[in-house]
Amino acid sequence: MKSAGIYIHIPFCAIKCMYCDFYSIADREESIPRFVNALISEIQRCQIDTTEWKIDTIFIGGGTPSLLEAKQIESILEALAAKYDLSSVKEFTIEANPGEAPKERLRDFRSFGINRISMGVQSLEPKLLKFLTRIHSVEQVFETFENARAVGFENVNCDLIYAIPGQSWEIWERDLNRIIELEPNHISAYTLTLEKGTDLFTLVKNKKVTMPKDGQTGEWFLKTHEMMKMNGYASYEISNFSRSGMECEHNLHYWRIHPYLAFGPSAHGFDGTNRWNNSRSLDQYLQQIESDSSPVSMKETLSEKDRLNELIGFGLRMNEGINLKRIPEKYQNEFNNNFIIAENKWEGCFIKKDESISLTPTGMAYSDGIGIDLMLD
Ligand code: SF4
Repeated sequence: MKSAGIYIHIPFCAIKCMYCDFYSIADREESIPRFVNALISEIQRCQIDTTEWKIDTIFIGGGTPSLLEAKQIESILEALAAKYDLSSVKEFTIEANPGEAPKERLRDFRSFGINRISMGVQSLEPKLLKFLTRIHSVEQVFETFENARAVGFENVNCDLIYAIPGQSWEIWERDLNRIIELEPNHISAYTLTLEKGTDLFTLVKNKKVTMPKDGQTGEWFLKTHEMMKMNGYASYEISNFSRSGMECEHNLHYWRIHPYLAFGPSAHGFDGTNRWNNSRSLDQYLQQIESDSSPVSMKETLSEKDRLNELIGFGLRMNEGINLKRIPEKYQNEFNNNFIIAENKWEGCFIKKDESISLTPTGMAYSDGIGIDLMLD
């Protein structure tokens, strides 16, 4: 049996944040009931063969899934349970934004078997929350965190962003320490990245905003990793840190190239050989489902070499590194030659063990470039 996951994409948000590249839309709450029906139909109609899969994680992301009412989430879960064997699910996450996840709703989510909350904290500095166009307050971060714990969520993640224009190291260090004091089980700390099509991209292009220099971001990256380590949060992926045994198993499925189902607009799925994604438009998605058409807008079959290159790229992002046992014999010479060249070029960046190759924290700061050098032509 192959360990596998299910991802559900809920595309609604109260507002569209200026840096966000995920597929999400604001001011469409009136479409939520129609969307829930479409999502249930998509689940019921899915024909992907999962007989050899052991589904052990579910992740409801977005968007802002906590905007849905409890009964709407419950009906989605009933559709999943009617279709798939969920008896092996050990990690079941829902994303929730501070101030947009009332305590009673969190209690209901917990009663449905959801056992992990991922909170979009981003910053604890009011002026930076405003810059990022986040609508929650600092107080709401602590309130939502306490509510999640109070209703029984023993596994809580906090998402944070750093290297934000106008953020000093002192502000970031203070915020990170305040979050660490809360003792979440998991912290995701992402550097702010510039994505085409976002308001942030336009502001930077028009020279209204200046992004921090790469050198500064690289320095903060290393200092952040050091701080996390000192406080008992092990880095297991380039931007993800956890207490022992609290790694996000669902995200590990992506990085270990395991299969996963995906439902909802823009959701990406993988069955071990094929990757696909659904239409990145709520209206198109609704029309397709309601007219009995497939919502899939792109599908590609990965060759063995494509899969190997993904194994290399994702492997370098993780502390466990590239699993050398998964490199097919016919590609081992080519990979070894690439590695010898890369080892000279990226001195001090690799940790080589018998069964894996991983990156030092310095190497992780350059993982994209290193990945390109290791991948096969
Ligand atoms: S709340 Fe999250 S998903 Fe929604 S726009 Fe903001 S960053 Fe994107």
